[in-house]
Amino acid sequence: MTFEKNNYDAAVIGGGLTGLTAAVYLARAGKSVIVFEKESRLGGLAQTAKMNGALFNLGPHAMYEGGAALRILSELGCLPKGGYAIKGSMIGIMQRKIVELPNDVTTDENKEWSSLMGGLSQIETESIRSISVEEWANKNIRHERVRLFFHAMCRQWSYCGDMSVLSAGFVIQQGQLAGKGVRYVEGGWQTVVDDLRDAAAKAGADIVVGNGARQILIENGRVQGVKLSDGAEIKVSSVISATGPHEVCRLVQGAGGMSIGRWKEESQPLYAACLDVALKQFPYPERVFALGLDEPLYFSKHSGPVTLSDNGALVLHAMRYNDNDNLRDARVDEKSLTDLLDLLEPGWEKEVVAMRFSPNVLVGHDSRTIRHNGAGPAPSPVVPEVAGLYVAGDWVGAEGRLADAGMASAKQAAEEVLRYAK
Ligand SMILES: Cc1cc2nc3c(=O)[nH]c(=O)nc-3n(C[C@H](O)[C@H](O)[C@H](O)COP(=O)(O)OP(=O)(O)OC[C@H]3O[C@@H](n4cnc5c(N)ncnc54)[C@H](O)[C@@H]3O)c2cc1C
Repeated sequence: MTFEKNNYDAAVIGGGLTGLTAAVYLARAGKSVIVFEKESRLGGLAQTAKMNGALFNLGPHAMYEGGAALRILSELGCLPKGGYAIKGSMIGIMQRKIVELPNDVTTDENKEWSSLMGGLSQIETESIRSISVEEWANKNIRHERVRLFFHAMCRQWSYCGDMSVLSAGFVIQQGQLAGKGVRYVEGGWQTVVDDLRDAAAKAGADIVVGNGARQILIENGRVQGVKLSDGAEIKVSSVISATGPHEVCRLVQGAGGMSIGRWKEESQPLYAACLDVALKQFPYPERVFALGLDEPLYFSKHSGPVTLSDNGALVLHAMRYNDNDNLRDARVDEKSLTDLLDLLEPGWEKEVVAMRFSPNVLVGHDSRTIRHNGAGPAPSPVVPEVAGLYVAGDWVGAEGRLADAGMASAKQAAEEVLRYAK
């Protein structure tokens, strides 16, 4: 796609959910805005791939009821159709065996678990944002096995497995949102990307794919324009970088001496290995959701609440949370995920319609640790050293995680651009 003008009020770098959200707000406020996506397709991590009739998000994707993403999508008139994750019995995996609640634990353990989960929504989270999950759990949970179940839930709510640094206040707040409902998106997250793209285009935004930003042009501490991969330059007075902290530092000369350089150093990315599987039928339909207790594993059936194929195939996701380790042996992770399916869904291999393994996938740019009181390393979208430069993404601000954080900071960044323009 080409663009007509070379002069805009604002440019958005990155055509994922965060960038598209910012573009909709800016275009609806009457600003001339252009989005640059370096890949040939919009959506970034929220893309959905179609394989043999099955619709695969990149690993398991869900939105929390009451989270920023659904709130903002509703505000923009782009609320996706969806279904709620089924609240089945809780299955833990320990020493490669199934530990099911309530049957496989003692009465005392079961009582403690029920009271912990039953009381979760009442926990005041602000005052414990600088306390680690480990410290909080050691104080508040008596039984070792209940603690392991709790850690597994915290890992699921945050994608972070290091309980010695994960903020208790942040992650319990995520658990409270998850308790209100976990929404899967009908047809996959690509539908959200497409709706945001249409909303941005309808409001007048230009959207360019296959041409990324090479440099953000800055003179005398002010944004002047963007230089693109194909060598073209456009003039803008504001730029929202909706990429990660490493990418924005690459685009800004001298970033190392600015706040963005420090935010990059302080961000702690999260990776995962994902096995997306579509089956003709589930051999054990009643086993809906399981988490590893002594290994960071995830298993969940996303078909059921929503339809994720056009041929009746049923989608499940298995995943290994790898924290900030992106150099893991792919074969080892793939084996641990197929072993998980062998345990929970024996006979699955005979039912396969489509299957995709993705090792070392970047899930998010930051783990919400006690270092930043459970917030991202960038406290707000404003880059103080450069007038007109803003950042947005899951590593910016204090609200939410992943897409919630990305979209909340996108809205905030757009508001900052409008304030600056005045
Ligand atoms: C396995 C997995 C599971 C997940 N589960 C959940 C979940 O359950 N709930 C949830 O909320 N989130 C989840 N996420 C995260 C979620 O997908 C992202 O937070 C969300 O899609 C928002 O992404 P973004 O737009 O901030 O970044 P991205 O999707 O990374 O988009 C950034 C875009 O910028 C582009 N870009 C980069 N550099 C340039 C450049 N120089 N010029 C132009 N374009 C550039 C990239 O190509 C990309 O398209 C998950 C992610 C993964 C991988």
